[in-house]
Amino acid sequence: EAREVSKHFPVRIGAGRTAVVRAVEDATLALQPGRIVALVGESGSGKTTLARLLARFYPPTSGEIRLRGKAVRGKERDYHRDVQLIFQDPFGSLNPLHRVRYNLERALRLHHGVRARAELNRRVLELLDRVSLSPADQFVDKFPHELSGGQRQRVVIARALAVEPKVLLGDEPISMLDVSIRLEMLNLLDRLRTEDGLALLYITHDIASARYLCDDIVVMYAGRMVEGGPKDDVIASPLHPYTKLLIDSSPDPDRIGGDRDALFDSTAEDLGEPPSLIDPPSGCRFHPRCPFAMDVCKTAVPPRTELPNGQWTHCWLQQEETR
Ligand code: SF4
Repeated sequence: EAREVSKHFPVRIGAGRTAVVRAVEDATLALQPGRIVALVGESGSGKTTLARLLARFYPPTSGEIRLRGKAVRGKERDYHRDVQLIFQDPFGSLNPLHRVRYNLERALRLHHGVRARAELNRRVLELLDRVSLSPADQFVDKFPHELSGGQRQRVVIARALAVEPKVLLGDEPISMLDVSIRLEMLNLLDRLRTEDGLALLYITHDIASARYLCDDIVVMYAGRMVEGGPKDDVIASPLHPYTKLLIDSSPDPDRIGGDRDALFDSTAEDLGEPPSLIDPPSGCRFHPRCPFAMDVCKTAVPPRTELPNGQWTHCWLQQEETR
């Protein structure tokens, strides 16, 4: 769980000058066993920073990360076992000098103290089988360069599963894969959350795949969460103008299984440039691009408005409507 988490990075902007990148601001998010939350937004919206905060790659500037109701501080080994992050790039996630076997055995040794050769063999083959790399004995002694992108990403997922996590954070896990195997990977993630009761955060710029996989959607824009709630409600009746723009720019869900290429090629990158996070717009960060912007939007951050169906947003329009 992230509670009002912010992350600011100091950066050099030349000639001895520094500035602050406000990458994530006041993010609140909860993950639950067996449910998938999609975190959707353009590049530079803060989704990857939030994933890294949740994985404790670095501490938040303010706010709190919690696991099972307890605040997490410092580098706790148990936390890194319970929460695993899968990166976008399966090519860079595996050491090219090591065979598949080594990558999986290392995780089993480090996190579970498995030493016996027979036990390591058995568990490695079982893991490969779980991610549908079968027959497993044909993959176990391969090097990463001998595998396709999809196969490499399956090995990365198997390595994460070796640790037996409770939470899986997938940072654009299908975006670098061939369009033809993206649907298979989404189905694999869906199966794992059902079989293992994993809490899954699926980070993507592609609202169509989020719509296909997740239970809930959270939308980020320029470092802030702007809307969230049950997938069907957010997609059928978006509250925030930016969410509406995202949905309008994505293909029709009825085309799932039909024109799959178009579906998984959809992208939020077509929506124009997001603002700089060094000097983000005041008030609502979306106001320079919003057709409904009012004076208040330029000066004050919109508070959260919640609906009885669990949908919520940060937009002054909704505040006006609920008055
Ligand atoms: Fe548009 Fe104002 Fe709502 Fe921001 S708060 S999305 S500027 S109407």
